[in-house]
Amino acid sequence: MLVLKFGGTSVSNAAAIQQIAAVLKEKKYPHHMVVVLSAMSGVTDMLISCYQKAGKQDNSYHEVIHLLEAKHMEAIEQLVPYSFQIEVKGRIKLLLRELEDICQGVLLLDELSDSIKARVMSYGELLSSAIVSVAFHHQGLPNTLIDSRDYIITDSNYLNAKVDQRKTYARILEQMPDVDLVVAPGFIARTDAGKTSVLGRGGSDYSASIYAAALGAERLEVWSDVDGMYTADPRKVKAAHSIKELSYKEAMELAYFGAKVLYPPTIAPLVTANIPLLLKNTFNPSHKGTLITATPAPGPNIIKGVSCIDNIALITLSGSGMVGVPGIAMRMFKAVATRNINIYFITQSSSEQSITIALADTEGQAALEALTDEFKYHISAGEVDPVNLEQHMSIVAIVGNGMIQQPGIAGTMFSILGDHKINIRAIAQGATERNISLVIRGEDSVTAVNLLHDSFFLAKSEQTAKALA
Ligand code: ADP
Ligand code: ASP
Ligand code: MG
Repeated sequence: MLVLKFGGTSVSNAAAIQQIAAVLKEKKYPHHMVVVLSAMSGVTDMLISCYQKAGKQDNSYHEVIHLLEAKHMEAIEQLVPYSFQIEVKGRIKLLLRELEDICQGVLLLDELSDSIKARVMSYGELLSSAIVSVAFHHQGLPNTLIDSRDYIITDSNYLNAKVDQRKTYARILEQMPDVDLVVAPGFIARTDAGKTSVLGRGGSDYSASIYAAALGAERLEVWSDVDGMYTADPRKVKAAHSIKELSYKEAMELAYFGAKVLYPPTIAPLVTANIPLLLKNTFNPSHKGTLITATPAPGPNIIKGVSCIDNIALITLSGSGMVGVPGIAMRMFKAVATRNINIYFITQSSSEQSITIALADTEGQAALEALTDEFKYHISAGEVDPVNLEQHMSIVAIVGNGMIQQPGIAGTMFSILGDHKINIRAIAQGATERNISLVIRGEDSVTAVNLLHDSFFLAKSEQTAKALA
C-alpha cells in the first residue's frame, strides 16, 4: 500500500485537485492508498489571523471567514456536479459556523490559549479533506474520509504536538477502514484528553509519515509544487536543481536547516520502518523527483545541498568565570528549554569562555530574559558578562554524507565568504561531519547561499561539461 500526501498548493483550487485525481488514477487499483491532505494554500495563515483578530476584540474576523467560505465554495462549484453540491456545501457551511462560534467565544471571553488556537487552525484541513473526498467520488475515485483526530494521539503541546507512537500506531492498525482509498486530513490530531492539537507548521508531511510507518507502507510520496528536494531553496537560488537521491540523514539535515519542502520530523518514523520517501511535483508528475532512503545511489557531488534559515537570533554567554565550571551549558539549555524555545545551533569556544546558541528571532528577547535571570548572581559577581543578543541573523548550512573525512570543505566555505566580505559570526560542524553550518548577517544570506551553491555545484558541472567536451 501507498501513502500519498498532497500539500497546500496541490489543493489550492479545482484544477489542482483534478490534477491530484489524475495522479491517483495513474497509480491504478488495486493499490491500497491513504491520501493525506493539507489545507488549501494560505488557509492556515487566514485561520491564525481570525484567531488573532478575535483575541484583539476585532470583529473583522467575520470578513476573513467570508473569504474562506468563498474560496472553498468556488472549488466545490467547479468540482462537484450541481445536483450534488448542496450536501457538501452544507457540510462546509457547518464547519465554518463552528469556526465562527469559536472565534466569537474568544472575542467575548477575551480568552486566548494554545488549545483554542490549535482548534481554530484545524479547520483548514477539515475543510480541504471534506471537499477533496467528494471531488474524488465524482472523478471515479470512491473513498472513505476519516478524521485524523480519531487516530493520531499526541501530548498536550497543542501547537507543536508530539505524537504518541504506540497509541497512534495501535489505533491506525486496529481501526483504519479497510478500503482501497482513504482520505485523511493532515496536520490535525488529538490529545489523550480528547482536545484538538496540531503537529506544527508544515505538519501534514509528518501526519503522512505516521500513517505510512504504522501501516508498513511500501512507500510514502510527498507531492508538492517543486520537482523534489533541490540543491538550494529555488526561491533564493536560480541555479538550484532537484537532487536525485538522498539518505534519510541528509534529507533530515537539509530540512532541518530550512528546506521547507519537507517538515523535519517526517523522516524519523520512516527510518525505523525502513520506508522509502519520494518527493514529487503534482504539476510535473513525469519528473522523477527525489528518492530518500537509507542507502541512496552516490550522486555526482560530495555536497548535496545548501540550506538556509533566516530570522535567527544569536545569544552568547561569556565570562572568565565560566572556565572549567561544570554544568553551565546544561543550565543555559535548560533555562531556554523551560520557555519552550527551540535551539537550532550551539557552539562553544575552545577556551570554554563562551557558548553561543542560535534560535528564532521572535524568541530572542524571551531567551535573553531567561538567561539573564538564570545567571543573575554570576553576572552581578562579574563572573559572567551580561548576556549578548544579536538579531536579524541567518544560518547557512551545507549538507552531504560525502563530506565525512573530506578535508578542505570548511576552508572553501570560509574563503568564498571571506572574499566577498561576508562576516561569519559562528561556526558549527555536526559531530557526524554531515553538515557544516555558519551564522552570518541576515542581509548577506541570499548572496552567501548563491556563492556557496555556485562554488559547490556550478564549478562541478562546468568541470563535467569541460571533461565531456
Ligand atoms: P506544500 O504546501 O506542498 O507542503 P511547502 O510550501 O511546504 O509545500 O514546500 C514547498 C516549497 O518549499 C517550494 O515551493 C519551495 O519554494 C520551498 N523550498 C525551500 N527550500 C527548498 C529546497 N531545498 N528544495 C525544494 N523546495 C524548497
Ligand atoms: N496547513 C498546515 C500549515 O500550513 C500544515 C501543512 O500544510 O502541512 O502549516
Ligand atoms: Mg509543506
